[in-house]
Amino acid sequence: MDNYYGPGRNHLFVPGPVNIPEQVLRAMNRNNEDYRSPAIPAMTKVLLEDVKKIFKTITGTPFLIPTTGTGAWESALTNTLSPGDRIVSFLIGQFSLLWIDQMQRLNFNVDVIESDWGTGANLEVLGSKLAADTGHTIKAICIVHNETATGVTNNLAAVRKLLDHYQHPALFLVDGVSSICALDFRMDEWGVDVALTGSQKALSLPTGMGIVCASPKALEASKTSKSVRVFFDWKDYLKFYNMGTFWPYTPSIQLLYGLREALDLLFEEGLDNVIERHTRLAKATRLAVEAWGLKNCTQKEEWFSDTVTAVVVPSYIDSSEIVRRGWKRYNLSLGLGLNKVAGKVFRIGHLGNLNELQLLGCLAGVEMILKDVGYPVKLGSGVAAACAFLQNSIPMIPSRI
Ligand code: PLP
Repeated sequence: MDNYYGPGRNHLFVPGPVNIPEQVLRAMNRNNEDYRSPAIPAMTKVLLEDVKKIFKTITGTPFLIPTTGTGAWESALTNTLSPGDRIVSFLIGQFSLLWIDQMQRLNFNVDVIESDWGTGANLEVLGSKLAADTGHTIKAICIVHNETATGVTNNLAAVRKLLDHYQHPALFLVDGVSSICALDFRMDEWGVDVALTGSQKALSLPTGMGIVCASPKALEASKTSKSVRVFFDWKDYLKFYNMGTFWPYTPSIQLLYGLREALDLLFEEGLDNVIERHTRLAKATRLAVEAWGLKNCTQKEEWFSDTVTAVVVPSYIDSSEIVRRGWKRYNLSLGLGLNKVAGKVFRIGHLGNLNELQLLGCLAGVEMILKDVGYPVKLGSGVAAACAFLQNSIPMIPSRI
């Protein structure tokens, strides 16, 4: 029995976990299988090749790990670095804060570059640190590509440019949890050494698989790094890759079939089209926010995120009440404001397997909620602004032309 039953579908607009497409649900609806039979290694071999495409890498080595984004962070750090190593990292929101906390708890020496929440990574400060570091004490730059708490996207190409400019050998580790499969991401071109994501975000799978991809330089570093690691040790995976059996421990069979289907859907739509769809949905959301007379938490256009929009509410409104109402009255799930921005922003996640009409349902819901909580919104204003843009920009569905 469902104690919290509501008719129709829940409009799931938190920025992860996201909606799982019907095709993926069906693909996962199957029994367990022997992962040592010839079938699962054969399937895994192809999955590992295909998953490289979402990172845009030829030279990277991917790992499919039974974990979440947090475990993927740990895998990236402990395989490539040693306790005491100096890491430069950016604190711009809740997820960059949590990653930094993990780095500190793992005994790395974190040099934090902090900026106001709603702004991007301060690359000027990074530049001066790299310029001063002629002895190459900085072993890694860690950055969250898309800060999910504030809706800020950082410029990874600019980070690579700085590293190259100063001919600095630091490893470049990137959290792509709320960006990969939704935003432009180019592991090889940007010289990213470890990129990672979680299955419940833009891949639109259930939670439970961390996908980590290591460059040849990162793999080399893993041979000498001294961090204690057991469950996340890449060496164990590589041993089984070499044997052709692929799994050092039991994978979720259902998630593997789900990943197969999720990748097929992404490739059928075309990765570039998927990215364009995210750009379109985000633009429509921002137009609605503007029409409501509300502000985006993100301070400058260059940092606007195409996967999540954090909307600032006037001080007389508690944004948590907006989220509560959405769920209780409209079967709509929005993201809460986290930590420093708790009560001040609510978040609209627009990532994953999502289309324009679904988004409009969410925007209509937000308008009614805003009215409920006493904000003087004109009903239909945001939806109209979004529709006016979308009606001119939605392409034909590629497979139906
Ligand atoms: N990194 C980012 C950017 C996130 O948005 C999240 C979760 O939302 C995480 C890391 C942590 O991932 P998980 O909750 O899967 O451990």
